Amino acid sequence: MKVLITGGAGFIGSHLAEEHLKRGDEVYIIDDLSTGSMENIERVKGLPSFHYYLDSVTNHHLIAELVDLCDVVYHLAAAVGVKLIVESPVRTIETNIRGTEVVLHHAAKKRKRVLITSTSEVYGKRDRVPFQEDDDLVMGATNKGRWSYACSKAIDEFLAIAYWKEKKVPTVIARLFNTVGPRQTGRYGMVIPNFVRQALTGEDITVYGDGSQSRCFTHVSDVVWALMRLVEHPKAVGEVYNIGSDREVTILQLAERIKSLTGSDSEIVFLPYEQAYEEGFEDMLRRVPDTLKIHRLIDYQPTFDLDEILGSVIDYQRSKLATKFGAPAPTSFQV
Ligand code: UDP
Repeated sequence: MKVLITGGAGFIGSHLAEEHLKRGDEVYIIDDLSTGSMENIERVKGLPSFHYYLDSVTNHHLIAELVDLCDVVYHLAAAVGVKLIVESPVRTIETNIRGTEVVLHHAAKKRKRVLITSTSEVYGKRDRVPFQEDDDLVMGATNKGRWSYACSKAIDEFLAIAYWKEKKVPTVIARLFNTVGPRQTGRYGMVIPNFVRQALTGEDITVYGDGSQSRCFTHVSDVVWALMRLVEHPKAVGEVYNIGSDREVTILQLAERIKSLTGSDSEIVFLPYEQAYEEGFEDMLRRVPDTLKIHRLIDYQPTFDLDEILGSVIDYQRSKLATKFGAPAPTSFQV
């Protein structure tokens, strides 16, 4: 099989590419390296079955060519990370909506199968958990930058469903909840890589707000497993699926756990939201997926618990720090 992964040099995209390569598939990725990196594809970039294009997903000609060549498309290219979204709202809205338009437009010509990755952000300020795929979405005001991300991804979902209904393009939508693992960077705000880096370097661990807000974290391997099964399942077409875990942890508990697992001397400090993001920033107190729908379809069940997830991020960041200070980086990749 030939697969195209937009955003294939990103955190999730690069893991997905590796799994397809292991299965013997031919993998094409396109990435503009805005949040992805060459380092993420270092281990596979020399393989004959791996092809990478450093370009924008809005490059019509290239997307037309690649979509034509491939059997399935995973559309992961997007502006992600709350910090990036708040700081660059124009880029967020434009990248997310235009990129999806281009991919779907070209997929429509030969009715190629497309999996669109969306986000749990689309549930917005909804306060009744767990979130079900058919629940109403509760958006905040348009002068609060964060919601532009949720709205842009909701438009992507509308588009994908419209292409299925009107043009019979087989699309599937995956709403990803907090996904974590090696290669995720804290640069765009994600909490676990941030806390781990802070703990390992002895900086203060910065809990935003009072730390009572909670999240459910899923390891990237579990997410990739689900994406690969969703994309090929005939019953998934035209449907939306949550992918996540239902085990909740508060952000303060998370900080304490990371401090203890790393044996760090870092202080846990509290930072008001308006200092961390912007004036009037709105956070979600809880965000828990209902995963019954995906469980019924593909027998999905997360396999990594929180300590295993944290362990994988700690090991990754430790080896990166060691590389920085002279030890050789592990590079082997078996297909
Ligand atoms: N957060 C934090 N310190 C950080 C980064 C994030 O306390 O250094 C908080 C953030 O305010 C949110 C939670 O951790 O309540 C998860 O943040 P993340 O950006 O990882 O994901 P999302 O907000 O999209 O769930």
